[in-house]
Amino acid sequence: MKQREETAAAQGSGADQPIYFFGGEEAEGMAIGDREERRRLLGGKGSGMTEMASLTYKDPVSGEEGGLPVPPGYTITTEQARRYFDNDERIPEDLVEAVDRYQARLEETTGKTLGDVDDPLLVSVRSGAAVSMPGMMDTVLNLGLNHRTVEGLARQSGDRRFAGDCYLRFTEQFADIALGVKDETHLKPLRRAILEKRDAGDVSELGLDDLEHLTWEYQHAVLEETGKPFPQDVRDQLLAAIEAVFRSSYSERAVFFRRVNKIPDTVVSAVSVVFMVFGNRGEDCATGVCFTRNPLTGENVVTGEYLTNAQGEDVVAGIRAGQPIEEMENDSKLKDAYQQLSAAQDALERHFRDAQDVEFTIEGGRLFILQTRDLGGRTGRAALNIVTDMVEEGFLSPEEAVLKYGDPNGLNELLQPAFDSEEEERAREEGRLIATGIPASAGAATGEVSISSEQVEVLSRRGHDIILVRHETSPEDVNGLHSALGVLTARGGVVSHAAIVARGMGKAAVVGAEGVDIDEQRGVLRIGEETITPGEVISISGTTGEVFMGSMPVAPSPIKARMAGEEVDEDGERLYQKFRQLLDWAREHKGLQIRCNTETEEDLKVALSFGAEGVGLARTEHNMLIPEERRTAFTALLLAQTSEDYQKALDSLRPVMEDGAETIFRLLEGKPATIRLFDPVPNEFLPRSDIETARVAGFMELAFEEVRHRSVAREETNPMLGHRGVRLFVVAPEIVESQAGAILTAAARCLKEGVSVRPEIQIPMVINRTEILKVAETIHDAARKTMEAEGIEIPYSVGVMVETPAAVRTADAFAGDLDFFSYGVNDLTQTVLAISRDDTGHFMPAYEEHGIVAADPFSSLDPIVATFVEEAFEKAKRANPDIFVFASGDLGGDPHSVATFHNMGLDGISAGPWLVPIAILAAAQANLKYPREETP
Ligand code: PEP
Ligand code: MG
Repeated sequence: MKQREETAAAQGSGADQPIYFFGGEEAEGMAIGDREERRRLLGGKGSGMTEMASLTYKDPVSGEEGGLPVPPGYTITTEQARRYFDNDERIPEDLVEAVDRYQARLEETTGKTLGDVDDPLLVSVRSGAAVSMPGMMDTVLNLGLNHRTVEGLARQSGDRRFAGDCYLRFTEQFADIALGVKDETHLKPLRRAILEKRDAGDVSELGLDDLEHLTWEYQHAVLEETGKPFPQDVRDQLLAAIEAVFRSSYSERAVFFRRVNKIPDTVVSAVSVVFMVFGNRGEDCATGVCFTRNPLTGENVVTGEYLTNAQGEDVVAGIRAGQPIEEMENDSKLKDAYQQLSAAQDALERHFRDAQDVEFTIEGGRLFILQTRDLGGRTGRAALNIVTDMVEEGFLSPEEAVLKYGDPNGLNELLQPAFDSEEEERAREEGRLIATGIPASAGAATGEVSISSEQVEVLSRRGHDIILVRHETSPEDVNGLHSALGVLTARGGVVSHAAIVARGMGKAAVVGAEGVDIDEQRGVLRIGEETITPGEVISISGTTGEVFMGSMPVAPSPIKARMAGEEVDEDGERLYQKFRQLLDWAREHKGLQIRCNTETEEDLKVALSFGAEGVGLARTEHNMLIPEERRTAFTALLLAQTSEDYQKALDSLRPVMEDGAETIFRLLEGKPATIRLFDPVPNEFLPRSDIETARVAGFMELAFEEVRHRSVAREETNPMLGHRGVRLFVVAPEIVESQAGAILTAAARCLKEGVSVRPEIQIPMVINRTEILKVAETIHDAARKTMEAEGIEIPYSVGVMVETPAAVRTADAFAGDLDFFSYGVNDLTQTVLAISRDDTGHFMPAYEEHGIVAADPFSSLDPIVATFVEEAFEKAKRANPDIFVFASGDLGGDPHSVATFHNMGLDGISAGPWLVPIAILAAAQANLKYPREETP
C-alpha cells in the first residue's frame, strides 16, 4: 500500500498520471472527476473498465452484494499515446518504467507473474479511444506465452489443447499486429492449407499436433519475413504490443473511419493491459457480446450471441456461428452466469443511463465483464424507442432523452422509405425471394451486385447503386461498405464486422445468409438456385433479412405515411407518436429559432407540422411562379432592355407572385416569412432550344433573331458571380417595386381577412450599404404605395442575405438600417473558398481524402467560412443589437453546422422541410450542452 501511495504522489493526478489501475476493488481512474475527461484520457474501454470496477451489484447466484466481476488491469492514457508519437514512435523511458511498476502491481493483485514457467500470467493488450471506433484499432490477446510458458499453462490448466490454442492465437495476432507479418498474405495461406488437408472448417476442429505445427509455421514465417525469431521475452512482447496498439491509432482503416465519421485525427488509442480470462477453456467457458436492448428495433429485450469454448475475436469475426444469447439459460453449465449477466446488465443500464453493448467471457462457469459501452450503431428507430421507453420506465428525464437520442440524422432515417410490404409479398409469391439471412441493419436497398469492395467504390463514384456481397467483411472493406447502398454477407451474425459497420453507417445489411456462395475467381455469385453475375440487380431488406432477385420499389416510412394522413398499422402509429414526443421535448429545449426553406405548399405544410417557426428562405425564382408561365415570362424579364420589356414581364409574373406569397402567409398564420427577391443564376433560365426562344419571342413580341441575339449576349462566363440578385434591382428597380408590391398586396389581402402576417423582404447577394440602401428605398416606396392603395397598415421588415465576404466585412455599416439578415451559406462558402458550388465533384473527394477539408464544405460548415459568419454576426449585433440573424442555405440538416450556429449565438436557422426534425433535435442537443439564457 505504501508503494502505491508513493507512486500516486510521484506521478501527480489527472493528465500527468500516465497509467491508471482498475480491478481488485480499485478504480484509480475514478479520481478523474468528470466522465468525459475520463473517456478522453482512458479511452472508451479503459474508462468503461474503471467505472465498472467501481460498481456494485447483487449477485443473483450467491445473493451477495459485491463488485461487478471485472478482471483487473491498467490503462495507459491517450496522453501517453501522443507522447509516443511525439517521441518518433518510441516509448519514452519514463513510460517504460511506469509500465513495469503497474505490471508489478497487476501481478501482486492476481498472484501470478508474467513469464512464470509454472503458472504464467497472461494479459490482453487492448485498444480503445475516447470516441468509439469499433474494430478499427488492434488488440492482442493471450500475451505472455512463449515456448516455456505454454508448457506451464498446459500443466497448470491440465489442458494441453487449450494451451496450444492460446499460443496459436497469440502468435497469429502478435505476428500480424506487432511484427507486421500480415495474416492475410503470410499466415492465412498456411492456415488454409492445413484446414484443407484436414478437411476442417476452422481451427477449432484441428487436433493439438496441427495447432502446434501451425504455430511453428507462423513463427517460421516471422523469422523469414523479419529476419528475427519470434520474441520469447515476455516483457519485450508486452512493450511491443503496447507500441502496436498505439500505432493502430493511425492504421489505414482507423484513419478512414475517422474521416468518414468526422472524428478529429488527434483522437488516439489508450492501451489497457488486462488480466486474461479464458472463454476457450472447455464447455463451461464462453465468450459473447450482448446488447441490453435490441439495436435494430430498440425493444427492451436482450439481444446477442455467445460461443462456447471460444475467445472474443471468434464472435466478432463471425467465423463460427454464435448462438442466441437466450439459449445460455438452458445450458446447465452456463445458466448461473446467464443470471449474473442479466443482473449486471440492469446495473450497467442504470449506472450509465443508456442501453449498453456488453462484452463478456465466462471461465469455469463464472462471469467476467470485459467491456461496456453505450449501445452504438443503433438505428434511428431503435434510438427513438430506447430513449422514449427509458423516460417511460422512469430512469431518464426528457432532457436526457433528447441528448441520448444521439445523432439527429437518425430521425431522417425514420423518414426514409423502405420496401412496400405488399411488393415484398408479391416478390415472395413470384419466387423472387432467393435467400434469407440475419437482419442486421434496418432499411431497404436495391442495386447492382458487386463482390469487390474496390469495384464498389469505382462504380458508385460513377453513379451506380451497388449492393456489396461478400463472404464476410473485414476492416479492409470499410471503403466499399461506405460506398455501397447495402451489404449482404454469407457469414457472420448481428455483432460481426459487416453488421456493426453497416449499422454505424445507417446502411441496410443482411448477414449470415445461407446459400450465398461467392466464386471470387470466376467472379460469380450463387444465391440459392440463382447464378448471379456482378451488375445484376438484387434487393435486400435489412429489416427482415430477405434477399430478392431484381429491383423493388420502396415504400415511404410509416411516419411519413401517417403525416400524409394515410392509415398505418399499430407499430407505425406507436412510432409516429414517439417521434412526435421526442420532437416536442426537443422543441422545449432548443435555443435557435428553426425556420424552413420552402419551395411548394406541400413542403411548407410538412415543415410546419414538424414545428417550423416560420419561413427562412422562399426563393421566389423557384416557388412562387407557375412552371410554364414562369419560364417564359421570367426569361423575358432576364432579357428585358426597355421599361416596356420589364413591365410586360412583371405584369405577367405579378399575379402568381401575389398568390404565392398569400399561400405562404395563410399557412404561417402570423409566423415570420422571409421572402427573398429574385436571385436567378442567369444561364439557368435562358432559352435552351429554338422552341423556347420562339416562345419567349412570342411573349416579348420580338423577332426570333432578336431574342436569340439577346440570349447569347446575356449568357455569362461566370454566372454565379454575374448579373444576379441585387444587381438585377440596381439596374431595374421596377423588379423590386413589383415584387415588394406583390408580397405586400398579398399581405394586405390576408390582413383584411383577419390573418396576421409578418412579411420579411430580403435582398440577396449584397456587397455594401450604398447598394442596400438603394434597393431598400425602393422597397419602402413600394410599401408606402401599396398601403395607400390598400388603405391598410402592413407590418413588414427589410433585410439582406449575407453571402459575400464584402457583406461580411461591412456588416456593421448596414446592420443599423435593417431588421434582419440571413447568411446564404452556399454562396458564402463559394465566395470565401473560391470554390464553385456546382463544380466540386471532380476534386472534393480528393480534398477529403487528403484531409485538406474535414468534410465537403457545402455539406458541413467549413471552419474558415465559420469565421466569416462569426465576424458578420459580431459586427452586426454590435451596431444593432436588435437585428435578427439566422443561417439559411443548405446546412440546416447538418447537426454539426447547427451546433456551430448555436454556439456562435445566432438567432435561428432555416432548414429544408424534411430536415426540420434534425435541425430541431440538433439545436436542442446543442442548447442542452451549452445553454442559452434566452430563447429567441
Ligand atoms: C445560399 O447561397 O446559401 C442561399 C441560400 O441562396 P441560394 O442557394 O439560392 O444561392
Ligand atoms: Mg445564395
